[in-house]
Amino acid sequence: MRKLIAANWKENPRSEKRALELFKTTAKAANSPRAKKTTDVVVCPPFVYLEEIADAYRKLKPATKRNLAIGAQDAFWEEKGAFTSEVGPKMIRSLGARYVIIGHSERRKYLEETDEMINKKIKLALKDGLRVILCVGESLPIRRRGIAAAQSFVKGQLKKDLKGVRGVKNVTKSNNGSLIIAYEPIWAIGTGKNDSPEDAVEMARFIKKTLKKVRVLYGGSVNSADAQSYLRYNDIDGALVGGASLKAAEFRKIITLS
Ligand code: PEP
Repeated sequence: MRKLIAANWKENPRSEKRALELFKTTAKAANSPRAKKTTDVVVCPPFVYLEEIADAYRKLKPATKRNLAIGAQDAFWEEKGAFTSEVGPKMIRSLGARYVIIGHSERRKYLEETDEMINKKIKLALKDGLRVILCVGESLPIRRRGIAAAQSFVKGQLKKDLKGVRGVKNVTKSNNGSLIIAYEPIWAIGTGKNDSPEDAVEMARFIKKTLKKVRVLYGGSVNSADAQSYLRYNDIDGALVGGASLKAAEFRKIITLS
């Protein structure tokens, strides 16, 4: 089974020039013979660079694009209208982007995004044909109560975030790839304190039991030294990578080793 490695650049890098350079080195890594065989790569830059990167993406050779896609880090729940600064899924698709990250814990925390908001965003993004990477994961106090408490929290998030999502059963049963879950324990994001691969795979299996054939990524301080310890499990379908995706050499190693 191919692995999916998604780069979440967050609010980085500082200039368009640097963003383009980073995209080009990532595209080159994705085009390596090893990655071509085993790995699909998604690059999710900030909105402000998306058009430029979509343009660079369009200019790549078809063979290079085969295992490479671009995505957004968020999409609003309304198509268009008086919603200052928001960006709708159709706008994202019109640039040629195919993926969107929804419900990242940083948006839940700093922007007070609720499960209800996330639910509306997922519905519209799927309806408009984007592949959704839904982020879920528990806080440290919950995890300290044990893996069962973490599973119960994640199950609750999935239930609320996917409530009434049309065709969610079909989406997950047929594994058509439209919905991907990123399990990202909050305490592991950007902290250098990864979840253990054993616990991460246990959670991935739990999510697959809950949602049938959905793909599950692990996210939380993944780097080139430890990526393989997660990706070697069949039940971990890939990784959502923040910090390490901004370091060209580091990300190349993650992509080419997976
Ligand atoms: C993320 O932002 O989704 C993430 C996993 O970040 P990091 O790899 O830096 O922990």
